[in-house]
Amino acid sequence: MSAEKFFNHTELLRCPACGTAFSRCGSSLRCEKGHTYDPSKKGWINLAPNTAPSRYGSALFEARRRILEGGFYDAVLHAIRSAMPENPETVLDAGCGDGTFTKALQGNTTIGLDLSKDAIRLAAFGGGPILWVVGDLTRLPLKNTSVDVILNLFSPAHYAEFARVLKPDGKLLKLVPQEGYLREIRALMADRLHREAYSNDAVVSHLSEQFHIADRIRIFGYYPLTEEQARDFLFMTPLTFGTDPGALDASLLKQITIDVELLIAERPGK
Ligand SMILES: [Zn+2]
Repeated sequence: MSAEKFFNHTELLRCPACGTAFSRCGSSLRCEKGHTYDPSKKGWINLAPNTAPSRYGSALFEARRRILEGGFYDAVLHAIRSAMPENPETVLDAGCGDGTFTKALQGNTTIGLDLSKDAIRLAAFGGGPILWVVGDLTRLPLKNTSVDVILNLFSPAHYAEFARVLKPDGKLLKLVPQEGYLREIRALMADRLHREAYSNDAVVSHLSEQFHIADRIRIFGYYPLTEEQARDFLFMTPLTFGTDPGALDASLLKQITIDVELLIAERPGK
């Protein structure tokens, strides 16, 4: 039943191996050259079958989900929602992780794509209409000019692919950390981190090569933490990757700064 939604959206999807269109063939999606992919009954599909497993385990995504559900990113979500058109037809969350943001920012049709199978499995848990896809950002399994809004939140990007799948009047909404972002964690880890200054200059200049940046919105907030939330923050942030977050003293982390920028980009010449 949950696999059905993929067969109803073959107009959006295309084969990641050869780029040709899909049609239904029994319980599989089959492209014109005969590559086949089977949607899972649990509501997701693997369109990047040759990818090595990612280093992000599901425990990380569970910590992230608790943090997102704890309200720390409500102002961020509000800003993103305000930048989206009303009732967008098709939304792609490129690098959707566990899908908590995706679920809060849906269009009529929504695709949540991530290279991590653990993340996509977790996202699909509980059902719903979102098309959860294990897929590669650098080879999006989507047709040209098929998407109204691309969300790219704290995630790597591939702007040429984004430009290919976005409709001419579509929007790319990219969220990037700013210098205050999680600064309490960086202070806690000061002796283990190399100078980890955030700068958006490279992101902005790279984005400008393919897109016109129509607006930039800074979102800043400052929140008290319970010890449990402190532990979840330590666990979910890439800042602590390569170290043992359990070895850090979460009780020292009493508050957290959220400092991000939302970049609203359009196709050039629009
Ligand atoms: Zn194919």
